[in-house]
Amino acid sequence: IFQLSLPLNFLGSIYRELRQNLLDMEVLFSLQEEHAPAKDIPGAKPLELRGGSIRFENVNFGYHPDRPIFRDLSFTVPAGKKVAIVGPSGCGKSTVFRLLYRFYDPSSGRIFIDDQDIHELQMESMRKSIGVVPQDTPLFHADILHNVRYGRLDASDEEVKAAAQKANVHDTVESLPDGYKTTVGERGLMISGGEKQRLAVARVLLKDPPILFFDEATSALDGHTEAELMRSINTTLLDKARTSIFIAHRLRTVVEADLIIVLKEGQVAEQGTHDELLHKGGLYYTMWLQQASDTSGSPLEAPSIP
Ligand code: ATP
Repeated sequence: IFQLSLPLNFLGSIYRELRQNLLDMEVLFSLQEEHAPAKDIPGAKPLELRGGSIRFENVNFGYHPDRPIFRDLSFTVPAGKKVAIVGPSGCGKSTVFRLLYRFYDPSSGRIFIDDQDIHELQMESMRKSIGVVPQDTPLFHADILHNVRYGRLDASDEEVKAAAQKANVHDTVESLPDGYKTTVGERGLMISGGEKQRLAVARVLLKDPPILFFDEATSALDGHTEAELMRSINTTLLDKARTSIFIAHRLRTVVEADLIIVLKEGQVAEQGTHDELLHKGGLYYTMWLQQASDTSGSPLEAPSIP
């Protein structure tokens, strides 16, 4: 009995842990309790990756039927490109990710990854291809080693540490009293927003996904921390071709994106490169002027996506 119960207990604890992680992920995206998560349809197929292009086609969606967020929203993120989504607060930037990751399904319209309707795909195969650095990285009540390994559960300690090193958070971790064994998360050691996001970068590095989603923190990190974070993202996550989508609140982080999509009132108000949009003199131009006057110093000198 002893011999048998030991591995069963062990498996049980792994199962509980995985479930807990899943729950934490859901908390992360602030799913409401009454919300029924999307499911695989019968006969769902695995995603066949061919570069990772993303297309929204006439997508309609609202969290509540009487309050539409997207109205026939259509846009394309070309494979391997860096695309920024900007727009006024509450216009639905983060919702784009929630639909792509199938936390919610649109009420009508379709979303494609490499021309495959994500509604017809096995969710797990699709989610495996998408990495996310969220606004506020959830940390589980566990040690840092475990928290970073969540990016890929079979990663060795060495791989976890190498990822942390690349994400520029290794030295900080080593300086903590218990190093990688330091317990963080709920009731654990408090760490700063910038450190949390760098742990998220390390997580995503372990996952190594062809599609990357980066949700810039709304609460401004200080200039130095933001520059550090952007640098570590540029030199690690963006060192190879990945389709990356940046949800940006501060326009200075999107200046060099391949494409900037400006959302307003549930639709694409305009799109183009930074220069094109400035020349156009529309909404982006107005937002740019507004932010330039809000921040001290020239926004053009600030860190940006390569
Ligand atoms: P910000 O720039 O402030 O981060 P955003 O453009 O990313 O905002 P979203 O977070 O996508 O905006 O939210 C779009 C709208 O939907 C907002 O008005 C928000 O209040 C609402 N909303 C977001 N999540 C939910 C939810 N789970 N239930 C109901 N309404 C929601």
